[in-house]
Amino acid sequence: MIIAIDGPSGAGKSTLGKMLAKALDLLYLDTGAMYRAVAMAVIRKGVAFDEKQKVVEIAEKSKIELIGEPDSLKILLDGKDVTAEIRTLEVAQSASVVSTISEVRRIMVEHQRTLGRNAPKGCVLEGRDIGSVVFPHADLKFFLTAKPEARARRRFEEDKAKGRQSTYEQTLTEINERDERDVSRQDSPLTIAQDAVVIDTSELDLREVFEQMLGAVSKAKGETA
Ligand code: C5P
Repeated sequence: MIIAIDGPSGAGKSTLGKMLAKALDLLYLDTGAMYRAVAMAVIRKGVAFDEKQKVVEIAEKSKIELIGEPDSLKILLDGKDVTAEIRTLEVAQSASVVSTISEVRRIMVEHQRTLGRNAPKGCVLEGRDIGSVVFPHADLKFFLTAKPEARARRRFEEDKAKGRQSTYEQTLTEINERDERDVSRQDSPLTIAQDAVVIDTSELDLREVFEQMLGAVSKAKGETA
Protein backbone atom coordinates (compact mmCIF):
# COMPACT_ATOMS: atom_id res chain seq x y z
CA MET A 1 0.00 0.00 0.00
CA ILE A 2 1.35 3.40 -0.97
CA ILE A 3 0.00 6.41 0.93
CA ALA A 4 0.89 9.91 -0.24
CA ILE A 5 0.75 12.90 2.11
CA ASP A 6 1.29 16.31 0.57
CA GLY A 7 0.78 19.84 1.78
CA PRO A 8 2.54 23.02 2.85
CA SER A 9 5.01 23.26 5.74
CA GLY A 10 3.63 22.97 9.23
CA ALA A 11 0.33 21.31 8.27
CA GLY A 12 1.16 18.22 10.35
CA LYS A 13 2.41 15.93 7.57
CA SER A 14 5.41 14.54 9.47
CA THR A 15 3.67 13.87 12.77
CA LEU A 16 0.64 12.30 11.11
CA GLY A 17 2.69 10.45 8.51
CA LYS A 18 4.69 8.82 11.29
CA MET A 19 1.54 7.96 13.25
CA LEU A 20 -0.02 6.39 10.17
CA ALA A 21 3.11 4.44 9.21
CA LYS A 22 3.36 3.05 12.76
CA ALA A 23 -0.32 2.12 12.96
CA LEU A 24 -0.24 0.36 9.59
CA ASP A 25 3.29 -1.04 9.91
CA LEU A 26 4.47 0.70 6.75
CA LEU A 27 7.79 2.32 5.88
CA TYR A 28 7.83 6.08 6.49
CA LEU A 29 9.63 8.32 4.02
CA ASP A 30 10.22 11.98 4.77
CA THR A 31 11.03 13.25 1.27
CA GLY A 32 11.64 16.81 2.52
CA ALA A 33 14.54 15.44 4.55
CA MET A 34 16.10 14.23 1.30
CA TYR A 35 15.98 17.72 -0.26
CA ARG A 36 17.34 19.09 3.01
CA ALA A 37 20.24 16.61 2.89
CA VAL A 38 21.13 17.74 -0.66
CA ALA A 39 21.03 21.37 0.51
CA MET A 40 23.29 20.44 3.43
CA ALA A 41 25.79 18.80 1.06
CA VAL A 42 25.81 21.91 -1.15
CA ILE A 43 26.41 24.18 1.86
CA ARG A 44 29.21 21.95 3.14
CA LYS A 45 30.96 21.97 -0.22
CA GLY A 46 30.74 25.77 -0.36
CA VAL A 47 28.94 25.70 -3.71
CA ALA A 48 26.58 28.56 -4.59
CA PHE A 49 22.97 27.53 -5.16
CA ASP A 50 22.85 29.22 -8.55
CA GLU A 51 25.67 26.99 -9.84
CA LYS A 52 23.05 24.53 -10.99
CA GLN A 53 25.33 22.02 -12.68
CA LYS A 54 27.46 21.69 -9.57
CA VAL A 55 24.37 21.36 -7.37
CA VAL A 56 23.05 18.59 -9.64
CA GLU A 57 26.40 16.78 -9.47
CA ILE A 58 26.28 16.94 -5.68
CA ALA A 59 22.72 15.57 -5.68
CA GLU A 60 23.85 12.75 -7.96
CA LYS A 61 26.89 11.81 -5.92
CA SER A 62 25.50 12.21 -2.39
CA LYS A 63 24.40 9.08 -0.63
CA ILE A 64 21.21 9.85 1.27
CA GLU A 65 19.81 7.21 3.58
CA LEU A 66 16.75 7.19 5.85
CA ILE A 67 17.23 4.66 8.59
CA GLY A 68 15.14 3.36 11.46
CA GLU A 69 11.60 3.46 12.74
CA PRO A 70 9.35 6.50 12.09
CA ASP A 71 9.87 7.91 15.60
CA SER A 72 13.63 7.54 15.56
CA LEU A 73 14.26 8.10 11.86
CA LYS A 74 17.87 9.04 11.12
CA ILE A 75 18.99 10.86 8.01
CA LEU A 76 22.47 9.93 6.83
CA LEU A 77 24.42 11.97 4.31
CA ASP A 78 27.40 10.04 2.93
CA GLY A 79 27.29 7.82 5.99
CA LYS A 80 27.15 10.67 8.54
CA ASP A 81 24.16 11.43 10.73
CA VAL A 82 22.73 14.85 9.77
CA THR A 83 19.28 14.37 11.36
CA ALA A 84 19.54 17.41 13.64
CA GLU A 85 21.63 19.62 11.37
CA ILE A 86 19.13 19.58 8.49
CA ARG A 87 16.41 21.08 10.72
CA THR A 88 17.84 24.61 10.76
CA LEU A 89 16.13 27.55 9.10
CA GLU A 90 19.05 28.00 6.73
CA VAL A 91 18.80 24.41 5.49
CA ALA A 92 15.01 24.65 5.15
CA GLN A 93 15.29 27.73 2.94
CA SER A 94 18.16 26.20 0.95
CA ALA A 95 16.18 22.98 0.45
CA SER A 96 13.33 24.95 -1.05
CA VAL A 97 15.79 26.59 -3.49
CA VAL A 98 17.51 23.31 -4.39
CA SER A 99 14.13 21.68 -4.98
CA THR A 100 13.32 24.12 -7.82
CA ILE A 101 16.05 22.49 -9.97
CA SER A 102 14.41 19.88 -12.24
CA GLU A 103 17.46 17.60 -12.43
CA VAL A 104 17.68 17.50 -8.64
CA ARG A 105 13.98 16.59 -8.48
CA ARG A 106 14.45 13.82 -11.05
CA ILE A 107 17.22 12.25 -8.94
CA MET A 108 15.19 12.49 -5.72
CA VAL A 109 11.98 11.18 -7.31
CA GLU A 110 13.81 8.14 -8.68
CA HIS A 111 15.31 7.43 -5.25
CA GLN A 112 11.89 7.83 -3.57
CA ARG A 113 10.16 5.51 -6.04
CA THR A 114 12.79 2.82 -5.52
CA LEU A 115 12.50 3.05 -1.74
CA GLY A 116 8.70 3.05 -1.85
CA ARG A 117 8.45 0.11 -4.26
CA ASN A 118 10.92 -1.98 -2.28
CA ALA A 119 9.14 -1.50 1.04
CA PRO A 120 7.79 -4.98 1.85
CA LYS A 121 4.41 -3.92 3.24
CA GLY A 122 4.16 -0.53 1.61
CA CYS A 123 5.06 3.00 2.42
CA VAL A 124 3.80 6.35 3.69
CA LEU A 125 5.57 9.15 1.84
CA GLU A 126 5.23 12.78 2.80
CA GLY A 127 6.27 15.78 0.75
CA ARG A 128 4.95 18.19 -1.86
CA ASP A 129 4.70 16.15 -5.06
CA ILE A 130 4.03 12.61 -3.86
CA GLY A 131 0.44 12.25 -5.10
CA SER A 132 1.05 14.35 -8.22
CA VAL A 133 4.44 13.09 -9.43
CA VAL A 134 6.22 10.46 -7.32
CA PHE A 135 3.29 8.05 -6.97
CA PRO A 136 0.39 9.39 -9.06
CA HIS A 137 -1.31 6.00 -8.68
CA ALA A 138 -0.93 5.84 -4.90
CA ASP A 139 -3.63 3.80 -3.15
CA LEU A 140 -4.52 6.81 -1.06
CA LYS A 141 -3.61 10.50 -1.22
CA PHE A 142 -3.94 13.06 1.52
CA PHE A 143 -3.50 16.79 1.23
CA LEU A 144 -3.05 18.30 4.67
CA THR A 145 -3.32 22.02 4.96
CA ALA A 146 -3.94 24.74 7.56
CA LYS A 147 -4.05 28.52 7.70
CA PRO A 148 -0.53 30.04 7.52
CA GLU A 149 -0.93 31.53 11.01
CA ALA A 150 -1.80 28.12 12.50
CA ARG A 151 1.13 26.47 10.73
CA ALA A 152 3.56 29.19 11.82
CA ARG A 153 2.29 28.97 15.40
CA ARG A 154 2.95 25.19 15.47
CA ARG A 155 6.42 25.53 13.91
CA PHE A 156 7.26 28.33 16.33
CA GLU A 157 6.21 26.22 19.35
CA GLU A 158 8.19 23.21 18.05
CA ASP A 159 11.29 25.36 17.52
CA LYS A 160 10.92 26.91 20.96
CA ALA A 161 10.68 23.48 22.57
CA LYS A 162 13.91 22.53 20.77
CA GLY A 163 15.63 25.63 22.11
CA ARG A 164 15.82 27.42 18.75
CA GLN A 165 15.68 31.15 18.78
CA SER A 166 13.21 32.73 16.42
CA THR A 167 10.10 34.84 16.71
CA TYR A 168 6.59 33.94 15.59
CA GLU A 169 6.80 36.68 12.94
CA GLN A 170 10.08 35.30 11.54
CA THR A 171 8.58 31.82 11.40
CA LEU A 172 5.49 33.11 9.58
CA THR A 173 7.63 34.98 7.04
CA GLU A 174 9.83 31.93 6.50
CA ILE A 175 6.83 29.62 5.99
CA ASN A 176 5.20 32.06 3.56
CA GLU A 177 8.41 32.37 1.53
CA ARG A 178 8.84 28.61 1.24
CA ASP A 179 5.17 28.06 0.37
CA GLU A 180 5.37 30.71 -2.33
CA ARG A 181 8.42 29.01 -3.86
CA ASP A 182 6.76 25.59 -3.64
CA VAL A 183 3.50 26.62 -5.34
CA SER A 184 5.09 28.80 -8.01
CA ARG A 185 8.01 26.65 -9.19
CA GLN A 186 7.74 25.32 -12.74
CA ASP A 187 8.61 21.72 -12.03
CA SER A 188 6.20 19.79 -9.80
CA PRO A 189 4.65 22.71 -7.91
CA LEU A 190 2.69 21.97 -4.76
CA THR A 191 -0.85 21.19 -5.96
CA ILE A 192 -3.83 19.28 -4.64
CA ALA A 193 -4.13 16.02 -6.57
CA GLN A 194 -7.63 15.58 -7.97
CA ASP A 195 -8.25 12.41 -6.00
CA ALA A 196 -6.72 13.59 -2.71
CA VAL A 197 -8.54 13.60 0.62
CA VAL A 198 -8.14 17.21 1.74
CA ILE A 199 -8.01 17.90 5.48
CA ASP A 200 -7.74 21.40 6.91
CA THR A 201 -6.02 20.87 10.26
CA SER A 202 -6.31 24.52 11.48
CA GLU A 203 -9.05 23.81 13.99
CA LEU A 204 -8.45 20.11 14.61
CA ASP A 205 -6.22 18.38 17.11
CA LEU A 206 -3.89 15.56 16.10
CA ARG A 207 -6.22 12.82 17.27
CA GLU A 208 -9.11 14.17 15.20
CA VAL A 209 -7.02 14.38 12.04
CA PHE A 210 -5.60 10.91 12.67
CA GLU A 211 -9.09 9.45 13.05
CA GLN A 212 -10.13 11.00 9.73
CA MET A 213 -7.05 9.57 8.05
CA LEU A 214 -7.63 6.10 9.49
CA GLY A 215 -11.23 6.28 8.26
CA ALA A 216 -10.00 7.08 4.75
CA VAL A 217 -7.53 4.17 4.92
CA SER A 218 -10.30 1.72 5.88
CA LYS A 219 -12.42 3.03 3.03
CA ALA A 220 -9.55 2.71 0.54
CA LYS A 221 -8.80 -0.83 1.73
CA GLY A 222 -12.47 -1.73 1.35
CA GLU A 223 -12.47 -0.38 -2.17
CA THR A 224 -9.36 -2.28 -3.22
CA ALA A 225 -10.32 -5.55 -1.45
O1 C5P B 1 9.02 19.05 4.24
P1 C5P B 1 10.21 19.92 4.49
O2 C5P B 1 9.86 21.25 5.05
O3 C5P B 1 11.28 19.24 5.27
O4 C5P B 1 10.84 20.18 3.04
C1 C5P B 1 11.88 21.07 2.80
C2 C5P B 1 11.71 21.68 1.41
O5 C5P B 1 11.93 20.66 0.41
C3 C5P B 1 10.31 22.22 1.12
O6 C5P B 1 10.19 23.59 1.47
C4 C5P B 1 10.14 22.01 -0.38
O7 C5P B 1 10.59 23.14 -1.09
C5 C5P B 1 11.06 20.85 -0.69
N1 C5P B 1 10.33 19.61 -0.97
C6 C5P B 1 9.92 19.38 -2.25
N2 C5P B 1 9.31 18.21 -2.57
C7 C5P B 1 9.10 17.27 -1.64
C8 C5P B 1 9.50 17.50 -0.30
C9 C5P B 1 10.10 18.70 0.01
O8 C5P B 1 10.09 20.24 -3.13
N3 C5P B 1 8.54 16.11 -1.99
